[in-house]
Amino acid sequence: MIYADNAATTKMSDAAIEAMTACMKENYGNPSSLYGIGQKAKEALEGARDEIVKAIHAENFREIIFTSGGSEADNQAIRSAAELGRTAGKMHIVSTAFEHHAVLHTLKKLEKEGFEITLLDVHENGLVRPEEVEAAIREDTCLVTIMYANNEIGTIQPIREIGAVCRAKNVIFHTDAVQAVGHISVDVVRDNIDMLSASAHKFHGPKGCGFLYVKKGIKISSLIEGGAQERGKRAGTENVPGIVATAVALKDAVANLDKNAEITVKKRDRLIEGLKEIPHSAINGDEKMRLPGNVNFCFEGIEGESLLLLLDDKGIQASSGSACTSGSLDPSHVLLAIGRVHDVAHGSLRLTINEETTDEEVEFMIRSVKEVVEYLRSFSPIWRDLTEGKKQFIL
Ligand SMILES: *Cc1c(COP(=O)(O)O)cnc(C)c1O
Repeated sequence: MIYADNAATTKMSDAAIEAMTACMKENYGNPSSLYGIGQKAKEALEGARDEIVKAIHAENFREIIFTSGGSEADNQAIRSAAELGRTAGKMHIVSTAFEHHAVLHTLKKLEKEGFEITLLDVHENGLVRPEEVEAAIREDTCLVTIMYANNEIGTIQPIREIGAVCRAKNVIFHTDAVQAVGHISVDVVRDNIDMLSASAHKFHGPKGCGFLYVKKGIKISSLIEGGAQERGKRAGTENVPGIVATAVALKDAVANLDKNAEITVKKRDRLIEGLKEIPHSAINGDEKMRLPGNVNFCFEGIEGESLLLLLDDKGIQASSGSACTSGSLDPSHVLLAIGRVHDVAHGSLRLTINEETTDEEVEFMIRSVKEVVEYLRSFSPIWRDLTEGKKQFIL
C-alpha cells in the first residue's frame, strides 16, 4: 500500500506513540491536582508547552493554548479577534476564498452576525498578493486571516510580507498554519504573526490535539467555559498524553525539517514531471512555492472520484481535494478559487507524499495514474466530445 494522503492526516511517529503510551500508563494525574502525581502531570504539560514555544520561535509559554486541533484553534482565534473588533466598532475581516472550512465557515457565521468579510483573490497560481492585502485593509478592519500553506494545492503564502502589512496597519494577523508547522520553517516573530493555528495529526502527532499561538498582549476569549485550565482560555482537563505526544512529534519534525524537505522536494518534482506527460493535464498552484510533499493535478475529461477508486485498487491512497469535500459532489472550493472551471476541477488528484515515500513508489504512482487516466478517458463521453471537437479543450 502506498499512502499518499499526508495532507489529510499523517501516521503517528513511533516516538510520539511511545511518549503518549508512557504518559497514559504512568503519568495519569490531573495537572490541576496539588499532590505528587498531579504535579508530575503538570510538569509534563508545561514541558510540552516549552517545546512548542521553541518549535515556532514564540517568546513566552503564556502564548500557547492547547486545543483539540486545528479547527478549534481557528475558531478561537477568529472569534476572539471578532469580539475585540465588535467592542471597538470594527466589524470588517479580510481573508481569502481558499481557506480551510474551519476558517470559512466561522467567517460565514460572523457575516450573519453583522461582520463584513472581504475574501481576497488567490489568482491562478494560488498565491495571495501582499499589496492586495494592504489595499483591502480599512479603518474598520479588525482581523486579517490567511493560511500559511494551502491544504489542497500546497501553495505557500508570502506570510512574512502579509504579516508586515498587518503590523504597519495595526490589524491583528491570524494564520492557519496547520499544513506548514513541522513541514516548512515557521517563526512567529520573523513572520510577523499575531495568532497561529496548528494541528498535531498533520505532523505525525495524535488526532484531536493542536494549539493556538497568541502573541503577548492580544486578548483572547474562550470558546469553552468551565475550569481555569489554560489560564482560563480553554476549560477542560488537559489532554496530557496527547499534548506530550504533540510536543515530541513537533520537536522531531522541526529537528529534521530541512533534511526531510530536501528529500521530499526531489520526489515531488519527479512526480510532477512524470504526471505532466499526461496530455491535457495541468498542475494546480505554483510549481515552486508549494509544500515539499504536495502534488495536485487536473486531468481533463475524467472524474476525480473514479480516478481515486481505481488508484485505490492499485493500492494507492490519494485524494481529490480535501477530506472534507470528498464525498460531496461539489468541486473543490480551492480549485474554483484558482479559476478552474467545474468540469476541469472535477478531474483533480492530490498526492501528498513525505520523506519516506520511495523512488519506486513515485515511479509506480506515475505509471498508475497514466494508465488509469487513459483507461477512464477511453469510455468518457466528455473526452469523446473533446476529441471529436464538439467541445473545446481547456487544458
Ligand atoms: C487539517 C486542517 C485543519 C483542521 O485541523 P484538525 O486538527 O483536523 O481540526 C485546519 N486547517 C488546515 C489548513 C488543515 O489542513
